[in-house]
Amino acid sequence: MTSTNENVSAFDEVNVFFDRAADRLGLGDGRREMLRTPWRELQVSIPVRMDDGTIKVFAGYRIQHNGARGPYKGGIRYHPEANQDEIRALSSLMTWKTALVEIPFGGAKGGVQCDPTQLSEGELNRLTRRFTANIEHLLGVSRDIPAPDLGTNSQTMAWMMDAYSQIHGHTPAIVTGKPVELGGSVGRDSATGRGVVYVTRETAVDLGMDPTGARVAIQGFGQVGSWTARIAGELGCMVTAVSDVQGGIHNDRGIDVEQLVKYQAEAGTVVGFPGTERITNEELIELDCEILVPAAIDRVIHQDNAPRVKAMVVVEAANHPVTPEADDILNDRGVKVIPDVLVNAGGVVVSYFEWTQNLYQHQWDMTRVNDELNKIMTRAYRSVADRVARDKITHRDASFQIAVERVAHVSRLRGFI
Ligand code: NAD
Repeated sequence: MTSTNENVSAFDEVNVFFDRAADRLGLGDGRREMLRTPWRELQVSIPVRMDDGTIKVFAGYRIQHNGARGPYKGGIRYHPEANQDEIRALSSLMTWKTALVEIPFGGAKGGVQCDPTQLSEGELNRLTRRFTANIEHLLGVSRDIPAPDLGTNSQTMAWMMDAYSQIHGHTPAIVTGKPVELGGSVGRDSATGRGVVYVTRETAVDLGMDPTGARVAIQGFGQVGSWTARIAGELGCMVTAVSDVQGGIHNDRGIDVEQLVKYQAEAGTVVGFPGTERITNEELIELDCEILVPAAIDRVIHQDNAPRVKAMVVVEAANHPVTPEADDILNDRGVKVIPDVLVNAGGVVVSYFEWTQNLYQHQWDMTRVNDELNKIMTRAYRSVADRVARDKITHRDASFQIAVERVAHVSRLRGFI
């Protein structure tokens, strides 16, 4: 299901968007190079004793892209295709994302090349502990704070926190996205999906689109996709298709999302949910709908399928789901693309709330978390929409321009250049 240009560097693709912003901002070669290049990259090997007694060695990465605006922040991904180039691309997106929503963090990302669905709980625990031990010297509550991403969750963060705390003493603020009982924030699980819905709401207002009854197709039904589906109902939208790694389901009259969540918890997949027809992940992208939400992996909308996307708006809940070529095709066809750095920032925003709560040993309630999230996401969306209107550019170009401008400005203030 991935793009036809899998051999193209994901980091180079993200930098197409960065370069466009740098051109418009008139950044010189040196400054551009400084902002583009990751500050630190670490690759580690992670030997794990498997349940059958054999030893497997996994490749792990932590890449700190830019720390000009604060401690590095970014998720840890467990995926069979996680590699240095992909993690580098994702780490740069974190730099632009934290700048765009104005939270005091830099950008980082980590990952382990593994298939978490094929590992037992014990194997995952051992892998996470050894990975944490191998990157621990880069981490710190004012240095680098990981979080969950594709293939990891609050349990993974609990293991990371425990492994780090064995060395440094009890340190909840070392990761975000923890279980609430261990200092996690209420509302963190749903935060990215909730942010996706807030941005969709603002987009609908600008497009003059009535979200009531709008058909939404969501690729991926994990942490981000499933919460987006659940909260989309608050706008009156109708979820008509969802998918996971095993395939997709569709019903043009709408899917009962709460029942689907229960079904998935038992069946381990959305496939086979009663009252729906089975579709492929590729078909979902091309489905007749108003709002298309890629919420799984990267580069699923590429030059081959972009001409067939029928949605009015593509809301990028996943990171880097649209290649630069596809982005141009969609823009030329009048399909609005709302970019990842804006759309999925809700997760890192509530991670920021969690980190501050840990530092102050305090706990916010759900109303406060969601109100503050709403304020920050709406403010970020409005700043992007104003730039779109002022400069007659796309939402992606506006988002990158604002973010790059902010990081460049802070770099100057700090005297790097
Ligand atoms: P997750 O592991 O919880 O869920 C991923 C979903 O995608 C699952 O339903 C899985 O079955 C599906 N999937 C995996 N491989 C697939 C494939 N090849 N084809 C189709 N579906 C596939 O992950 P998540 O945390 O929901 O992350 C999803 C995306 O959102 C990623 O791009 C991630 O970087 C991004 N994101 C996540 C967060 C967060 O807070 N978790 C924040 C910002 C961005």
